This record gives sequence, structure tokens and C-alpha cells, in this order.
Amino acid sequence: MGEKVLRQIAIYGKGGIGKSTTTQNLTAGLSELGKHVLVVGCDPKADSTRLLLGGLAQKTVLDTLREEGEDVDLERVLKSGYNGIRCVESGGPEPGVGCAGRGIITSIGLLERLGAYTEDLDYVFYDVLGEVVCGGFAMPIREGKAKEIYIVASGEMMSLYAANNISKGIQKYANKGVVRLGGIICNSRNVEREVDLLKAFASELGTQLIYFVPRDNIVQRAEIHRKTVIEYRPEAQQAAEYRELAHKIETNKNFVIPKPMTQDRLEEILFD
Ligand code: ADP
Ligand code: MG
Repeated sequence: MGEKVLRQIAIYGKGGIGKSTTTQNLTAGLSELGKHVLVVGCDPKADSTRLLLGGLAQKTVLDTLREEGEDVDLERVLKSGYNGIRCVESGGPEPGVGCAGRGIITSIGLLERLGAYTEDLDYVFYDVLGEVVCGGFAMPIREGKAKEIYIVASGEMMSLYAANNISKGIQKYANKGVVRLGGIICNSRNVEREVDLLKAFASELGTQLIYFVPRDNIVQRAEIHRKTVIEYRPEAQQAAEYRELAHKIETNKNFVIPKPMTQDRLEEILFD
């Protein structure tokens, strides 16, 4: 057995595309492979870990610091969820007030100080908010944490616009550092010829379509029960899809600096 290598992964994509759902199901899949995982929710909505915690109201790092001061124990902000997956919610400012990135810096700092990045960890996932509105978007990268990125997208035009914009951000940081794009995860919206479109899009960016996650109502049913599909219906086909995504990420060797495309080229691909 060699040294354990901690992989720190950021998940990006347009708001509502399915980042939190996909991240939680995928980490549930990794936990079944015996992997030790920490999920850090970086969205002010603080709903990145709900399915892993069974809806347990998780107090955010920012709220905890605000109410209890700097002298907090790790157990106050880090809860153990499904299969021992460790869960943290950064929290953030009220919408439109202040920079969402602050919560992430504060959280990463606190997690480090309190010793949350333990040696037994295999993965840390940062579920980042979708809107590329300010520098806050890149915080997990800028703090030298996430070195591997996946973008969640679908065949819908706006999600591909967002994915292309996110690639511009990644390219900027990749040129200066070690962060790389590991692929596009398609979270299907049942768009016509969606696989072909996403493959063409990924290839134009110089990356891969790492997995195509089908759209299935069982995701919503599990969500109502505050569970991942993997926990709610382990025998369901959708659970198998998430396990396969987990396997693809576990064995991924394809890491690139993305080559974002012009608006014209993107529209050409959509048209074809
Ligand atoms: P984000 O974190 O990107 O804002 P969410 O993960 O909260 O998005 O997903 C938004 C909604 O889409 C959720 O209500 C979820 O149930 C639904 N959803 C996500 N993925 C799927 C899927 N593969 N099939 C069906 N519904 C999905
Ligand atoms: Mg989310």
C-alpha cells in the first residue's frame, strides 16, 4: 500500500443544474468503496449536505462563529452523515450583501485550525455556488485546496454558457497553478441528442464527458425523504448510475487546462 493521496475536488455548474444532488450521491458511492470523504458546502443556501445528513439542520460555519465566537470545537461545525461522510456547510451572507467567497475562506481556515483535514481522508469535495459573480467563485482554488474540478452541465444552452464561463475562470487559475479540469458531468435534462452535444462540447474544451447521469424522478422521491438515491433505493438503476460516476472519478486520469470557446463557436456547436 502506497501513501494515501488526498484528492480535493471542486464541483462547479450553473445554479439548479444538480451540483449538490450529484455531489452527495457521488460521495455516497465513494463511501461504499470504503473511501473517507469530507463534503464542504460552499453555497450560502447551505443545502449541500442535507441528503447525507438526513435533513439534520446543519449550523453553518459562519453562523456558528457569529454566535459562539472563535472558540469552537470541530464537532460544532462538522457532522457525520451517511456512511460516515463528514459534512460541513460554510454558509454565507444574505443574498446581495457581501461576498459569498468570505464564508469559504473562513471555513477552510477554521477547518484547518481545528484539524478537519485528517490523514485518513481520501477526498474533500467543495460544492461551490453556481454564479460566477465575483472572486468568491474561485475561493477553493485560490486557497490552494481544490486541484481537480468537474463541471456539471446539461444540454440546455444556459448551462453550457455557464460551463464555458467557468472554464475561463479555471483556465486563468490553471495557467498560474496546479488546478486542472477532470471533466464534464452531464446531469441530463432529456434534451434531444444530449450525449452527442455534451461530447462535442467537452471535446472542444479539450476535456472529456466523464459521465452521463440520466434524469429520473427517483431523485426527487429520495430528496423528499431527505436521502440520496443510494441510501433510499440502493437497488435502483439511478443508484447504479451514481456508483458508476463514483468509479469514473476514482479512476480518472484525464486532467487538463480547459480551452474555453468563443460565444460564436459555442453557438455553432449548439446548432450542429
Ligand atoms: P444545484 O446544487 O446545482 O443548485 P441541486 O442539486 O439542488 O442543484 O438540484 C436541483 C434540483 O434538481 C433538485 O431538486 C434535484 O432533485 C433535481 N435533480 C438533480 N439531479 C437530478 C436528476 N438526475 N434527475 C432528476 N432530478 C434531479
Ligand atoms: Mg447546490
